[in-house]
Formats: sequence, structure tokens, C-alpha cells
Amino acid sequence: MVDFWKGLLLTFRSQNPKYIYTEQYPLERPMVAERYRGAPRLNINPETGETLCIACNLCALACPENLIVVGWQRDYATRRIVLTTFTYDTSRCMFCGLCEDACPTDCLELTQDFEMATYTREGAIWDRHRLEEGPTPARYVR
Ligand code: SF4
Ligand code: SF4
Repeated sequence: MVDFWKGLLLTFRSQNPKYIYTEQYPLERPMVAERYRGAPRLNINPETGETLCIACNLCALACPENLIVVGWQRDYATRRIVLTTFTYDTSRCMFCGLCEDACPTDCLELTQDFEMATYTREGAIWDRHRLEEGPTPARYVR
């Protein structure tokens, strides 16, 4: 029984009520680490409202899960390729950040938002509109 009481003592030493607190989520959103990688976002130029994505496909090539699909078409007037669609399957993402690192324009960003639950598998596949809109976490008030 000595070992048992020693074990219990150790347990309760780590569970001192004065060190225990309850996070009041969702009323209070927890702080996440500065370098946390969460919900993806496609950044746009705040001045022009145009996407920063140049449809280079580097993020898709860098992704070990092959979950990014970049759609593009050529603008024959400017002779440049233009982004048309962008899909990102968050259900397969491991948030390694390789796509973000590969992006030459800082367009693709893994934000600090962590609320990505959905009711359907289809809901985990984010399209360009949702990615450009960025995370819109619900704000609860007391
Ligand atoms: S974070 Fe990693 S797994 Fe997720 S899309 Fe980017 S490269 Fe792919
Ligand atoms: S790497 Fe960046 S610029 Fe290139 S397709 Fe991906 S998001 Fe767009």
C-alpha cells in the first residue's frame, strides 16, 4: 500500500486546486502559440482587392498529401495565367506548412484559427471563395 499512497500523493501534488483552472471556451477564446498553423487563407491585396495568387501551382507541388488543386487559365491580353479556382481539402491536411513556405507571394497562409469542425466531409473541402474570405470564428458574449 505504500506505493499506492505514494502514487496518490504524487497525483494530488500535481492537481493542487489552486493551480487548476477551467478555460471558459467558447466565451473566452484560448491563446494559441504564435507559430501555430491552423485554418488556411488565401490573401488578397487589401488595396486592390485582387488575389495575391499567381496560380504558379508551387503550393500544390509542395504538398505531400496532394490536397491542393489550383485552377487557372491564360489571359491572352496580358499573356499571364490567372487564378480561376482553388480547392483545399482540410480533412487531409496535416498542417505541415510546406505549401505556405513554397508560396512565392505570401498568398497562402495558415492562420491561427483552429475552429474547423464541419458536419459533413464535403464541408472540409474549402473553395477559393471560402479561402479568400478567411476564418470567421463565432464570437460568443456573456
Ligand atoms: S499544410 Fe502540408 S499537408 Fe496541408 S496543404 Fe500544406 S503542404 Fe499539404
Ligand atoms: S504557391 Fe501561392 S501563388 Fe502559387 S498557386 Fe499556391 S497560393 Fe498561389
